[in-house]
Amino acid sequence: MSNSIYPWQEASWQQLQLLRQRMPHAILFHGAAGIGKSDFIERFAQGLLCEAVLPDGHACGQCASCGWFSQQNHPDYRRVRPEALEDEPAAEGEEGEGEAKKTAKSTKAPSKEIKIEQIRNLADFMNISTHRQGLRVVVLYPAEALNMPASNALLKTLEEPPPGTVFLLASNSLDRLLPTILSRCRKFALPMPSHAEALAWLKSQGVADADSWLREQGGAPLAAMAQAEVGNRDDLEVLLQLLAHPSVEGALKVADKLQKVPLSAQVSWLQRWLYDVFSYKLAGNIRYYPRYQKELASLAGKIHVSRLLAAIKGANERRATADHPLSPKLFLEDMLLDYAACCA
Ligand SMILES: [Zn+2]
Repeated sequence: MSNSIYPWQEASWQQLQLLRQRMPHAILFHGAAGIGKSDFIERFAQGLLCEAVLPDGHACGQCASCGWFSQQNHPDYRRVRPEALEDEPAAEGEEGEGEAKKTAKSTKAPSKEIKIEQIRNLADFMNISTHRQGLRVVVLYPAEALNMPASNALLKTLEEPPPGTVFLLASNSLDRLLPTILSRCRKFALPMPSHAEALAWLKSQGVADADSWLREQGGAPLAAMAQAEVGNRDDLEVLLQLLAHPSVEGALKVADKLQKVPLSAQVSWLQRWLYDVFSYKLAGNIRYYPRYQKELASLAGKIHVSRLLAAIKGANERRATADHPLSPKLFLEDMLLDYAACCA
């Protein structure tokens, strides 16, 4: 894990240091997915806990506190996120819960929600005095993963904030949070980098074909890097080829072929494709898939705008159910046949 923030976060970092004089008890960081919000708040948390913090607010990386932090076992720090995120390599140092998680994982898919038990577990943590006579820091992301009982439990805590405790939350979409939670937090926007800045960073990380990945992820550099690492370009190409040359027969074949590929990813590929068709029709612009300009232009000329809007609406609705389909294959067939019908 790098010890620094991303280049496009410098101004935000400086702005955030001004808050340290009078720390709010809860800060909600928001911005697009894949721009590095969680890394940013973890860096900030480390800086708050550091015992020899540098003048620019960065942690020293040398003190006992920084040592515990990097081992993920700082007694005054908790990180709350969905179980599904704990599969990432970054969580390898996590102590204690590892074994339990491994057994649970073998029986069912890891949860994508933040559950009430995770919030309740914070109570003990907040009721004992801090080990280092300093702050207690809780980092929680993505906040929209809080299910309803967990949201309500967190709200109670935010309404009666325990002394010396700072909550740092991150969210990709504020409109999916309870308004009562929003009103209890100081909001702090994190920016999307410029295309050039994001591209330079991806290249410095050795990502090949960085420009395409970045465009396909709507300019979000960490999302682009994650996709490039997974390397599911082949699956994406299979879908895009069908979207470029829609047919009933093709839709059924592709649904069969891609049934094991995460549905939420496929819905967002379709959403981006439809966005490009729409944007080309209205303004002659292509945002996500410029390499398909010819096909996008031809579709934009063919599809009536009302059909296009209906297809966009349909894709948005599918996004909501993509995590729990009865049958992935049927879900895909339905989605792709609808698309083919819309283009006919
Ligand atoms: Zn330190």
